[in-house]
Amino acid sequence: MHKLIAALVFGVTLMLSPLAWAFEFNQDLLSGAVQTLTTQLQDDKTADAEELAVGRQIAGNLLGAAALVKDQKLQKYVNQVGRWVANQSERPDLAWHFGVIDSGDINAFAAPGGYIFVTKGLYKLLKNEAELAGVLAHEVGHVVRKHHYKVIQQAKVVDFGSKLLAEKAGSDNQLVQQLIGSGAEIVARGLDKRAEYEADRMGVVLAARAGYDQYGLVEVLQQMGHYSGGDDAVKLLFKTHPHPDERLSKLDESLGDQLDDLHGQTLPGRLYKLKK
Ligand SMILES: [Zn+2]
Repeated sequence: MHKLIAALVFGVTLMLSPLAWAFEFNQDLLSGAVQTLTTQLQDDKTADAEELAVGRQIAGNLLGAAALVKDQKLQKYVNQVGRWVANQSERPDLAWHFGVIDSGDINAFAAPGGYIFVTKGLYKLLKNEAELAGVLAHEVGHVVRKHHYKVIQQAKVVDFGSKLLAEKAGSDNQLVQQLIGSGAEIVARGLDKRAEYEADRMGVVLAARAGYDQYGLVEVLQQMGHYSGGDDAVKLLFKTHPHPDERLSKLDESLGDQLDDLHGQTLPGRLYKLKK
C-alpha cells in the first residue's frame, strides 16, 4: 500500500515537473516582458514630460500675449466640454487644459501636452455647445497627433542638434528653453495643410463620439468662411489655416456619409453666455 502511494507520488511529481519547468520558463519570459514594458513606460514618461514642459512654456507665452477672460464660470465650462471631448481621444490621460483668451481675433490654438485656447472672438461666433465641442476637438486632434510637437522636434534636430553636439553640453532645461523659441513660432506660424485636414476629420469624429452633433465644426467653418481675408479678426487664422471653404470640401470628401446615421445633440441652451 505504501509502495503504491509512493509510486503515485512519484508519478504525480514526474507529471508536474515539466509544468514546474514551464512555469519557471514562463516566469522568466514574463519578467523579461515586464522589464521591457517598464522601460518602455519610463521612456514614454520622459517623452511625455518633455512634451509637457515645452507645451507649458508655449502656453505661458500665449497667455503672456493675451490673458484668460476673467470669468471663472466660463473657463470652468470650457474645460468641462473640452475634457469630455478629449476623453474620447487616444490620449485621455493627458492633463488637458482649456481656456478662452481675451482677444477679439477669431482663432484657436493648441500647444503640445494638451493646452488649448480659443479666443473670445471665436467664442462669440458659437451658437451651441456642439460647435464649441467641434472647435475644441479640432485642437485636441492637433495635440493627439502631436502635430506641433513633431515640427518642434524636427526643428530641434535640424537647428539645435549640431549646435548641441558641438557644445557637448546643455542641460535638459536649456534644451527645453531652445525648443520654446521655435515652438511658439510654430504655433503662430501654423502647420501644413494635411495636418489641418487631419485635425478637422478628428474634430468631427471626436465630437460625434462625445455625443455631439457632428456638424458643429462644419457650422463654425461655414461662419468663418463668411469673413473676408482682409478682415483683421481672421487675418492670422487665414494665414495659418487653409481657407474654411477648402477645409469644408476636404471634410466632405473624406467623411462623405459615414456619420449620417449619428444623431448627436447641439445643446444650444447649454452654451455658456458671455457676460459682455
Ligand atoms: Zn488647426
